[in-house]
Amino acid sequence: MSPHLDRKCYCVSGLLLMSAFLSSAYPAPAQTGAPQAKLSVHWEELTGADFIDAIKHSQGTCLLPFGILEKHGPHLPLGTDLLDVRYASLHAAEQEYTVVFPEYYFGQIFEARHEPGTIAYSREMQLALLQETTDEMARNGCKKVLIVNGHGGNNSLLPFFAQSQLAKPHDYVVYIFDERTPSSGGPPKKTSVDQHAGESETSKMMIARPDLVHQDRAPGESGADQHRENLPDGVYTGIWWYARFPEHYAGDGSAATHELGEYQMNWWIGSIAKSIAAIKADDVSLKLQNEFYEKSAHPLDTRQ
Ligand SMILES: [Zn+2]
Repeated sequence: MSPHLDRKCYCVSGLLLMSAFLSSAYPAPAQTGAPQAKLSVHWEELTGADFIDAIKHSQGTCLLPFGILEKHGPHLPLGTDLLDVRYASLHAAEQEYTVVFPEYYFGQIFEARHEPGTIAYSREMQLALLQETTDEMARNGCKKVLIVNGHGGNNSLLPFFAQSQLAKPHDYVVYIFDERTPSSGGPPKKTSVDQHAGESETSKMMIARPDLVHQDRAPGESGADQHRENLPDGVYTGIWWYARFPEHYAGDGSAATHELGEYQMNWWIGSIAKSIAAIKADDVSLKLQNEFYEKSAHPLDTRQ
C-alpha cells in the first residue's frame, strides 16, 4: 500500500476509493458479516474504534507473522522471510478475517552473523520481546495468537516459546504454524537440495516481490551441501549449518519458476487460512490450559 496515503482523511468517499484500490491489490475479504464496508487486516491501519470491531470480527484471533533479516544467497533480499511470510499471512487474513500484527523480525539467526545485514538479537531479548508482544496483543483482546513462522532458524525457538507458556498462567493461547512449502504436488521440482534461497524459496519470492529477485545472480555462489562435519545421525551442534552451507545458501535459485511460486504460495495462503478457521473454532485449548494452571498450583492435591 502506498505510504503517501493520508490515513487521517479517511472519509466515506475516501473509504470507497480505498476499497476499490484494495480490491485490485488483494483478494476479496471473507463474507462473514464485516461490520463495515471493509476492515483492514493490518493492525496499524485500523482506528481505535475500528480495532474493537476488528477484534470482534476476528473472534479474538490475531496473526503474528514472524520474519528475519539475513542473507538469502547471492540473489534474494535480506528480508525475504519477512516479505514472504507477510504476503502469505495478509492474503490468508483476507480469506479468513483476522488482525495481522506489524513487521516482526526479532528471531533466532546466530548462524548468519558472519554475513552482511544480519540482525541477531540475544536469546534473552528474543524471548522477552516475543513474550511482551504476545502479552500486549492479548491485553488488546487477541486471546488466540497465531505465530506464522517464515524463517527456518526459528524452528526450535517457537515450540520452546509455546511450551514455556505453561510456566505460569496466561489468559490466551499461543499457536504456531510452521509450514511454508507443500511436501508434494505442483510443477515438478528440478533440484534435490532445496532449502535456503533455493528453488522453492526463490519461486515464492517471485510471487511476493518479483522486483527484488535477481535470478541472474543465483549461480554466483554455490548452494551445494559441503558436508564438512563428520558426525553420526542424532549428534547435534550449533555449527552444523555453517559446516554444510557456509555461504548461507542451500540449493539453487536459478531453478526457480513463477509457476512453482504460484502453486506454493497459494498452498501456503490456503494452509494459513485453514489454520485461522480451525483456531477460531477451537474452544478446547484455553479451557485445558486453565485447568492445567489451576492443577499446577497444587500438584499434590490432584492425586487424592
Ligand atoms: Zn528464508
